[in-house]
Amino acid sequence: MGKLLEVKNLQVQFDIFGAHVQAVRGVTFELNKGETLAIVGESGSGKSVTSKALMGLIPNPPGKIKEGQIVFEGKDLVANTEKDWMKLRGKDISMIFQDPMTALNPTMKVGKQIMEGLILHQHMSKSQARERAIDLLRRVGIPNPEKRVEEYPHQFSGGMRQRVVIAIALACNPKVLIADEPTTALDVTIQAQILDLMRDIQKDTGTAIILITHDLGVVANMAQRVAVMYGGKIVETGTLDEIFYNPKHPYTWGLLSSMPKLHAKTDKLQAIPGTPPDLSNPPKGCPFAPRCPYAMKVCVDQMPAYTHLSETQKAACWLQDERAPKVEPPKTIGV
Ligand code: SF4
Ligand code: MG
Repeated sequence: MGKLLEVKNLQVQFDIFGAHVQAVRGVTFELNKGETLAIVGESGSGKSVTSKALMGLIPNPPGKIKEGQIVFEGKDLVANTEKDWMKLRGKDISMIFQDPMTALNPTMKVGKQIMEGLILHQHMSKSQARERAIDLLRRVGIPNPEKRVEEYPHQFSGGMRQRVVIAIALACNPKVLIADEPTTALDVTIQAQILDLMRDIQKDTGTAIILITHDLGVVANMAQRVAVMYGGKIVETGTLDEIFYNPKHPYTWGLLSSMPKLHAKTDKLQAIPGTPPDLSNPPKGCPFAPRCPYAMKVCVDQMPAYTHLSETQKAACWLQDERAPKVEPPKTIGV
């Protein structure tokens, strides 16, 4: 699989009320053609900010990319002007947002919203773009697309609106599709349909997907690789199997323990006690130390480096140091 996108040491800061919030603190990962990479973590872990950076959507001010590179097809996008981004956004890299209502323009017919990108990026005529819009609506499972193309967002149900958002995102056959909690606002049945749809589309088009979510059930259904974020950093990354069946970072253990079990007798979730770090004054050591049941003195003093556990898995945790005591993951993390 060829590399499509490489993020290297990405650092994003927001200057708010005199504080310098370091939302993303040196994130490195790559995305291969056609794969789905899930970025998981609690809210405030930096996963949404990372995805916005990939779309050139960090509002400046108050935000800025302090350091790092976003290399897409060999070109670093960090230096892009807004004009450069306009050429790329929606064409090569597209995004599905969590809330379809804010992603759509309520005053514009959905057909027209799909056509915009096609006219801008693919230089289609109006009638060509309209034909393609109808095609796309059909493709995402909206019945009677010839009629619906003339309707406004409020005439669609929540699940149908999210399908429209996906149709817009896919209009120009993007190479990268970023989906930020794409099903969080939807009920469970619709959620499954939308995920199926995304998988089908990926099979047909070969689009690579970055899936941002806090829902490990969604991850298990969709992703081949997983990056776990905490406190603005990737604390562990690996294949789906490595992260689910052989996780090495205590934060990953905590996330997996808080995942609802398939055959559990109780539906009570075991949330990880404590709160995420204050990123306006980030800890110098491991960001998870205040919440980690295994924290040692070194954890508080020094950020752990990555230990490479396989060709595809690495974790930033002092427990992987050969001098550390041997710790077994908790029994609660089975799927
Ligand atoms: Fe816990 Fe220390 Fe590992 Fe951080 S480095 S996750 S505090 S054991
Ligand atoms: Mg978010």
